[in-house]
Amino acid sequence: MHIELFLSAFAASIHTKKTYMKRVLFLVVVLSTLLLQSCKETAQLSYEPFTGELRHAFGISTNTRTTTPIVLTRITLGEQTGYGEAALPPYLKETQESVCAFLQLAEPVINSCTEPLNVDSIMQIVNELAPGNHAAKASIDIALHDLYGKLQGQPLWQIWDIDPQATPCTSYTIGYDDNDSIVLLKVREADWAKILKVKLGREEQEDKRMITLIRSLTDKPIYVDANQGWPTQEHALKMCQWLAERGVVLVEQPMPKHMNEEHRWLCEQVDLPILADEACQTLDDVAALQPYYDGINIKLMKCGGLAQARKMITLARELGMQVMIGCMTETSAGISAAATLSALVDYADLDGHVLIANDPYEGIQLVDGKLTLVNKPGTGVTLREL
Ligand code: MG
Repeated sequence: MHIELFLSAFAASIHTKKTYMKRVLFLVVVLSTLLLQSCKETAQLSYEPFTGELRHAFGISTNTRTTTPIVLTRITLGEQTGYGEAALPPYLKETQESVCAFLQLAEPVINSCTEPLNVDSIMQIVNELAPGNHAAKASIDIALHDLYGKLQGQPLWQIWDIDPQATPCTSYTIGYDDNDSIVLLKVREADWAKILKVKLGREEQEDKRMITLIRSLTDKPIYVDANQGWPTQEHALKMCQWLAERGVVLVEQPMPKHMNEEHRWLCEQVDLPILADEACQTLDDVAALQPYYDGINIKLMKCGGLAQARKMITLARELGMQVMIGCMTETSAGISAAATLSALVDYADLDGHVLIANDPYEGIQLVDGKLTLVNKPGTGVTLREL
């Protein structure tokens, strides 16, 4: 189309010998530019549903499961491939089908990208394709950031001027189980972890049984996640006081997410930091939650990826809130991306890849429980060698 326009303009302009050579030169430059543009390599998005096999059945206050649905994404440009994923726990509305439908919508946008990649601009277009779809958007955001770093030949933490030494230890999650020996086995297997995170939010006796069992083996600090399971502020207060006496250092989402005033009351009553998880999904939630919670738990799958998570961390800090970076049950693609930001927060709960038996990638390393960023381009993720 452009070539036809230029040719007709050129033909119309040839009326004197004086300008002839100039016009030929102009035409050569235009044609060469168009030729180079058409030869420039474009990115290619590909994706596939993937079932994460859990090492142990994983129980929270509302359900127990043995597998987890994921969609793996890849964006390739030239010799480099960026890896991302959408991890989809049952309580989120997104499914493998909805993620694939969104990725199909985003394919023309990604497949027209060329170097140099402007990740923020691309994500702005992707974010406007449809509302919601946060895990699907995160899967593109993560792959793009990984690809961007790989094309630059630099780790993302270096590009963002993040101190790789400042990463915290991650907690390791012990899901609910009614079988005492399974709980004890999980605690023993978590020997490497410096901090445990325990899923509570069931009946008082069950919650106390879990903590008492774990305390029979270890005095490690414990994060408790009630997953909205405690029905009243009085129940939550009683549990928090009991837990504080047993070395629990924070409590995540004690009551249902709509109970803002009850959470504010609880924060006033106890010294334990109370963090919003289910109540805090995206950047828009951060300021609104500040009066009611001590802090927030940010997850890439909830907020739409690294770019949004960085904005949430900055805003939460400005508002004086504590920050945890958490995860779903994810592969090393998602966890390595989140781990890059862990150096900027107070608490990290990034053990999702340890819970999966068939992680197709390797990236972030755990050294004595500490998240250890690797000195590799992008998020540091490569395909696991079989
Ligand atoms: Mg939680």
